Amino acid sequence: FRYQGQTMGTTFHITVVPNGGRSLPAEMTQLIEGELARINSLMSTYLEDSELSLFNRQQVDIPYSVSGDFCQLLLLSREVYTLSGGAFNPAVGPLVNLWGFGPDVNGGEQVPEPDQIQRLLEEINFLSLSADCDTQGDGGSLTKRQPISLDFSAVAKGYAADRVGRLIAERGYTNYLVEIGGELALSGLKSSGQPWRIAVEKPTLAQGGVQLIATLTNVGVATSGDYRNYFERDGVRYSHTIDPRTGWPVTHNLASVTVVAENAAKADALATAFMVLGFDASLALAERENLAAYFIVKQGDGFAEQASSGFLDYIAKGEEG
Ligand code: AMP
Ligand code: MG
Repeated sequence: FRYQGQTMGTTFHITVVPNGGRSLPAEMTQLIEGELARINSLMSTYLEDSELSLFNRQQVDIPYSVSGDFCQLLLLSREVYTLSGGAFNPAVGPLVNLWGFGPDVNGGEQVPEPDQIQRLLEEINFLSLSADCDTQGDGGSLTKRQPISLDFSAVAKGYAADRVGRLIAERGYTNYLVEIGGELALSGLKSSGQPWRIAVEKPTLAQGGVQLIATLTNVGVATSGDYRNYFERDGVRYSHTIDPRTGWPVTHNLASVTVVAENAAKADALATAFMVLGFDASLALAERENLAAYFIVKQGDGFAEQASSGFLDYIAKGEEG
């Protein structure tokens, strides 16, 4: 059973293996659409009345009640913020906007003035946000201690893939693949009884094609790259990934990174963190923390590839490169 559509400014593709040859109930697509719309209405930076946008307009020192989804994204974000030494930081939203990659394009595709960047760097102290989240996932209360606004774009697609996967599992279907904008939640086996096969694409839109095939299941997979979302000014490529230490888009030779983790939300956040850190620091972090990551690095006119030790088992045998 295959089902596809559009959500969160991107596309989604879902494959579910019917149990024992039965077809899926028609209500399934409605349930999936409903869940995607619900998450979008919570996490969209483009909708002025999304939970995220309302939170962003909330004032300092006044506790604000949020949903369980919001709390979960916040707690996961803190985990990856800490793991990455602050490279992954959902409080960079104002800088994402300043650089023209958010909902407020500010003329867009311009290099901002240094003092504008400097000013916004003072508003990205993610740990200044205090959170009192219910451990059952029922929601919680957040208090801004300093002016701050959040952008969950680097983790929300993965999170949505996990949620849709859970919804499918709750209906008794244990074999599925949910993909939203390139982030995947995988469970069980294909109808052939084999694990899922995932293609990592070459990091150039001009050539396209498959760089690597991974075989895996019961995990989340996410890829971040510099080759889909960027603008060019005076021969310089400015990517949509912002380095929170400088306020500038990252400028290194890491073209794309694919991460496998216990769920798609975590893989999504980690992939963005690695994109910020660049190849050397990311590989060191992946080895230290036993994270599964596959890097494609620009080298001359071509690309070099490197898998962390934790990723090697996922590379389909005889199909490297
Ligand atoms: P992804 O495609 O998952 O790597 O997410 C990229 C998006 O995350 C960007 O378009 C921004 O909205 C946001 N973003 C940019 N830099 C960061 C960062 N350092 N930490 C968290 N989110 C970021
Ligand atoms: Mg991400």
